[in-house]
Amino acid sequence: MKQTFLNIIGGKPAEPSGAGDRAVVNPATGQEILRVGDSSSSDVAAAVDAAADAFGTWSRQTPAARHKLLAKLADLLERHTDEFLEIEVANAGKPIAAFRDEFADCVDGVRLGATAGRNLTAPSAAEYLDGATSAFRREPIGVVGAITPWNYPLLQAIAKVIPALAVGNTMVIKPSELTPLSTVRLVELANEVLPPGVLNVVMGDGPGTGAALTANPKVGMVSFTGSVAGGRAVAVSAAQGLRKAVMELGGNAPAVVFADADLPRAAALLRDAGLFNSGQECMASSRILVEDTAAEEFVAALLSEMAEVRLGDTFAETTTLGPLISEKQLGRAVGFLNRLPSHAKVLTGGSRVARPGFYLEPTVVTGLAQDDEIIQNEVFSPILTVQTFSGEEEALAMANGTVYGLSASVWSSDSGRATRFARDLKAGMVWVNEHLMFGPDCAVNGFGESGFGIENGALGAAEFTRLKHVLTSHH
Ligand code: NAD
Repeated sequence: MKQTFLNIIGGKPAEPSGAGDRAVVNPATGQEILRVGDSSSSDVAAAVDAAADAFGTWSRQTPAARHKLLAKLADLLERHTDEFLEIEVANAGKPIAAFRDEFADCVDGVRLGATAGRNLTAPSAAEYLDGATSAFRREPIGVVGAITPWNYPLLQAIAKVIPALAVGNTMVIKPSELTPLSTVRLVELANEVLPPGVLNVVMGDGPGTGAALTANPKVGMVSFTGSVAGGRAVAVSAAQGLRKAVMELGGNAPAVVFADADLPRAAALLRDAGLFNSGQECMASSRILVEDTAAEEFVAALLSEMAEVRLGDTFAETTTLGPLISEKQLGRAVGFLNRLPSHAKVLTGGSRVARPGFYLEPTVVTGLAQDDEIIQNEVFSPILTVQTFSGEEEALAMANGTVYGLSASVWSSDSGRATRFARDLKAGMVWVNEHLMFGPDCAVNGFGESGFGIENGALGAAEFTRLKHVLTSHH
């Protein structure tokens, strides 16, 4: 792998100068890939200074000029496809066939995001007051501090970097300490086409490097994707500086399956949506709710779909299920299984796989109560729970009965019922007879503790701007 694994500040590689370093591991083998240094708070300050220095010139380029440069980055990414496949499959433990599709979304995300500055909308100019014209400008905010998680390292970085830069901001990004490699490569390639300082990257963990970034007074906006706990700390830090924050946090998506749904199709798609990325997916269909009259048929169909899952080597084309990201995440998932109440029943799976790496068997658990911890928490693993309900009212109460509100699905052939559920589900993204169908154009917005602010698409790009009202007197 051709990598430097350094901070990139002002267009130049810079050795992180913090006290420690940490292993970056291949989760499919448990083997260390390399060690990456931690950034000190002065490294973070230098990166923010570089972004602040670059802002004036970058923000005054035309949207078309920024589009042209960012579109070159899409071409560069495509030219390095094999390298990105190798990096992300090794570092994030993704099955190569699945990541090939994800990488296509990454490139498409760059192409889409690159145009964001050309497509901004604002209220029309008008004479709201006698003798004056009001006009509205959408302006970039300044330096954006971006913090990303380990489950979609490259995709998440692109979802923030490209629209933020396209509308005229500059950025310092801190990837997850578990999966920094693809982001470093992205920033290296970006610096082949962008002016120095426009995009900077710093290595390090959350409480050290991440916290130094969110507390820096020259950062105008924080764009965070990660856990509810991490988001809470970042939101407090942003609030102290009265900085804008966008928070894309965790979820525990319900999939509500009525007896009148196409049950075999629902079982197949919900298996895929529940196990995608080993269930380490903020919108995974981890909480299946099925109407009691259809439960037996649905569970039988789901179990036969589960039997088709191919767990294994992430570089093998036939593998459909990879490992969890770390020993810690695997231990957390096994902890939920070990603490299952006596009324719960494991129908398939339930154990760590006896092979190197951090693999958990694909698992289905039934017989659970609404207040059981595995229902109330984001488990983030290949564990699907199946609960039963009787009637719409109970289904809705169960579906909406957690602190999260990121996504949900309803499965029914009754369009009136599907429409009612789409209205009443507490979630920023609702699918009807689908789950996890998604792409770079799809704006997403968290309800409840799943966060606030929009990511992806034109609405997501607009988050990286602020509105200015210019009132001009006619005198
Ligand atoms: P995490 O919160 O542990 O870490 C996310 C990032 O935040 C990392 O870069 C980490 O170093 C940093 N961080 C942690 N604490 C911090 C602090 N106090 N200050 C500054 N930075 C801090 O999350 P994770 O385990 O890496 O990622 C998985 C989580 O991300 C899941 O909860 C998942 O649902 C969520 N997620 C949400 C979305 C969405 O769009 N809503 C998308 C992907 C992942």
